[in-house]
Amino acid sequence: MVESSSDLVVKAKESKSLCSLPWVHLATHPIGTVTPCCLTDMTDGMSTSSTDYDDRVHYFLGKDKLETIANSTKFKKLRKEMINGTFPKMCQKCYRYEDAGVESKRQEANEQYGKYLDEFISGTNPDGEITKLEYRYIELRLGAVCNLKCVTCNPFSSNRWNQDVHVFKGTDFEKDYFNNEIKTEWYRDLNFYDELLTKSKNLEEIWINGGEPTLIKEHGYFLQKLIDNGQSKNIKLHYSLNSTKFPDSFIQMWEKFKKVRIQISIDDIEDRNFYVRFPSDWEVIMSAFSKIVKYKDIFDLEICQTVSALNVYNLTRFKEYFDKHHLPISHNYVHYPTHLQVNILPEELKKKVLNRNSKLADFEINKLTTELNKPLEKTAYSRFISYINLLDRAREVKITDYLPEWEPYFYRTYE
Ligand code: SF4
Repeated sequence: MVESSSDLVVKAKESKSLCSLPWVHLATHPIGTVTPCCLTDMTDGMSTSSTDYDDRVHYFLGKDKLETIANSTKFKKLRKEMINGTFPKMCQKCYRYEDAGVESKRQEANEQYGKYLDEFISGTNPDGEITKLEYRYIELRLGAVCNLKCVTCNPFSSNRWNQDVHVFKGTDFEKDYFNNEIKTEWYRDLNFYDELLTKSKNLEEIWINGGEPTLIKEHGYFLQKLIDNGQSKNIKLHYSLNSTKFPDSFIQMWEKFKKVRIQISIDDIEDRNFYVRFPSDWEVIMSAFSKIVKYKDIFDLEICQTVSALNVYNLTRFKEYFDKHHLPISHNYVHYPTHLQVNILPEELKKKVLNRNSKLADFEINKLTTELNKPLEKTAYSRFISYINLLDRAREVKITDYLPEWEPYFYRTYE
């Protein structure tokens, strides 16, 4: 007997595994694949849910229709499992957080979009197919076009990184750092944005990141359409930007949206930032920053500092430097790659880091201490040294010229 939509709604409401995102959300990836959200496990390849592995059909943005992607075998299976209360493998991260008593992205999403459950489950067939695709939340990862190649980044998020991957050839790093040329620039295709608009009548939130989104002017076409049709005043925008440029054309559009949150990625100051967020020019960064900071009463601005083995030494000085702007600074600790985590620091340097940063807020010190003391992978430190040596060779720089605290640990000669 085929289940009716009201049977499905009852089951969905009882389900302990259901998440709203596979119904209301689009999460894109630079090469044009789609996943249920940015958290879903992609390591086994099976979680690239736009890819129908059963019959080896690969779906990509710009090539396939959004409805085709949303109703690929894997997406349908995921929804069916969630309605039935099964815990899908690709969402294990959320369930693990919940088991540990920590609020998961699933729970957050259900708080925000669970109120539409009747509506979206009624439009779902028993096999998980959705009959009417209506996004409420979109995450656009607009390719990997970037003007920086941060040490903590990789060729899959910054195409400029391709310039340096040759030094990893034949090393253990090669499998993670290899040439990644994106051939299909779906994020520059205006037809993609036109189609997206037809599925965005109820849109509430857009998160835009990259690469560096300000370099993808085409997404402004989508924003302008949302302004022209009157939707923008109901939509929250969230950006992650690298503070190399804040084009006036974008600022003027952002002002038309309900709320705009901009996470400004800066990791260190002056020459240190040049090394960590290579090859950023501090004057350029600060000139862009001074421009956007004038909008702090209109936009929610936040400095987002990616904390790694490279900049953890300087957290307090960084904070003092930006104090006068009264902006929140968030610390995003690197967990991958493991050789750049702060716990790889030699014990002596860890002590110096704690002394130097002893005036941070209590919650920041607690977080710092926890991260420094996390269990260390056996080879992580030696991999850090090799990785930096190789990268320095490609970039013709020396870590110790910029981050002198590392002086005792790099003995090789740089010729
Ligand atoms: S359950 Fe978690 S991992 Fe799965 S789609 Fe929802 S938020 Fe993403």
